[in-house]
Amino acid sequence: VLAAEDVWKAFGEREVLRGVSVSLAAHEVVALIGASGSGKSTLLRCLGLLEPIDDGRIFLGDEDISDPRVDGNRVRARLGAVFQSYNLFPHLTVLGNVTLASRVVHKVPRKDAEARALALLERVGLADFANAHPDRLSGGQQQRVAIVRAIATDPEVLLLDEITSALDPELVGEVLDLVRSLAEGGATILMATHEMAFARDVADRVLFLDEGVIVEEGAPAQLFTAPAHARTKAFLTRFT
Ligand code: ATP
Ligand code: MG
Repeated sequence: VLAAEDVWKAFGEREVLRGVSVSLAAHEVVALIGASGSGKSTLLRCLGLLEPIDDGRIFLGDEDISDPRVDGNRVRARLGAVFQSYNLFPHLTVLGNVTLASRVVHKVPRKDAEARALALLERVGLADFANAHPDRLSGGQQQRVAIVRAIATDPEVLLLDEITSALDPELVGEVLDLVRSLAEGGATILMATHEMAFARDVADRVLFLDEGVIVEEGAPAQLFTAPAHARTKAFLTRFT
């Protein structure tokens, strides 16, 4: 569904991605782990066309979306992204946030967009907040709304970047539970995370990124219990 081939990205002199290749199959859940500064967010941003790449190619389906002639807005409309800090629009209600892209980008009639949004909010237990503004919600609730907003347009891939790391510990579970249910429902997900237990539990595959290189990848059971590379081992010992 989504594939990066030998992607390079530098900020000034600093090479942040050094030949990264990743490929996500339909319905696959892949966790991206690695130390702070290893390039996880940069990779997600490049894959989501939120950051131009210096070299390499990115495919969404059969289409080379790294081709500069591609209409980025059209491609971004096929993806869902959620980041660390909830970036809900504060001046819109929860319903307004969730329906915005459907209505404006996908031209779904308001009634239909709202009906779908309410059904999704219902499913995550937030229907009562549909007409509230984000500042009335807890961090965990806001982050769940951000996820609902991302899935409201039926994206082909969900890119999740450390979506629980800004949350109070007691709110992490409700957000991870939602991601788990999306994974079980067949979503295609690439998520950068520091939640190793969650990655082990939910991911089909884990990628370990180290200084802009994917040093190791494998099934969670293999990578977490018997990492092949010294760098992976060293990283994982700091988390256990
Ligand atoms: P974390 O776990 O802390 O989120 P990360 O793996 O997501 O880290 P990135 O945010 O991708 O790491 O950053 C990788 C490197 O790229 C860092 O050294 C960072 O300072 C640098 N970097 C990221 N974005 C930019 C930018 N817009 N301009 C300049 N440097 C950047
Ligand atoms: Mg990051």
